[in-house]
Amino acid sequence: MEKPIPLATMLPIVIVYLFSLHASCAAPTTESVHETFVDCLRNNIKTRSGGHGFEGRSYISDEPFIMLDMFNLRNITVDVQNEVAVVQAGATLGEVYYRIWEKSDVHGFPAGECHTVGVGGHFGGGGYGNMMRKYGLSIDHILDAKIVDVKSRILNKESMGEDLFWAIRGGGGASL
Ligand SMILES: Cc1cc2nc3c(=O)[nH]c(=O)nc-3n(C[C@H](O)[C@H](O)[C@H](O)COP(=O)(O)OP(=O)(O)OC[C@H]3O[C@@H](n4cnc5c(N)ncnc54)[C@H](O)[C@@H]3O)c2cc1C
Repeated sequence: MEKPIPLATMLPIVIVYLFSLHASCAAPTTESVHETFVDCLRNNIKTRSGGHGFEGRSYISDEPFIMLDMFNLRNITVDVQNEVAVVQAGATLGEVYYRIWEKSDVHGFPAGECHTVGVGGHFGGGGYGNMMRKYGLSIDHILDAKIVDVKSRILNKESMGEDLFWAIRGGGGASL
């Protein structure tokens, strides 16, 4: 039988903004998503970056859930000399474009058209936009990534291995 469309979707029990972790975690950095925290929240966590996922996987559930909101992890560093930028998952595409534009009139980054889409979900799903024909997808230009795995390890391209690095660039949200 077809599942009935719910009249209202469940709201998160708790929304965790990562800056608030600093009080309870050791280091006030992005990497403070450490063991204790991951242990606490292992069950039914949803990660939200820009909240633009069409399926609502970052903010809707049939079951009680905790939302891990990347909103405050939105730092962007642009190194024009080396043509590299370091972007945190909570930044929006508009912020990425703006920070690049601040540094250069001739550089850009191929990604989506909607400036309020979040980097976290967008890069996880591929990222197509106006520059696609010439420059491809966002994921074609991702050189490295830092992730926290279910064992609370902080991994980069080298330590996560080729397969996982490939999967996080295009596998899509909530698929890993
Ligand atoms: C108005 C609008 C315009 C769009 N335009 C384009 C476009 O031009 N090109 C294009 O390619 N796409 C476009 N999209 C699609 C958009 O790129 C995807 O829906 C993307 O997943 C949204 O990312 P988000 O971080 O904003 O959403 P969220 O809802 O926060 O996340 C989407 C999914 O990714 C997961 N996720 C988010 N952040 C993380 C993280 N840090 N770590 C692990 N998982 C995470 C979430 O749990 C969820 O499952 C558009 C969407 C909208 C609503």
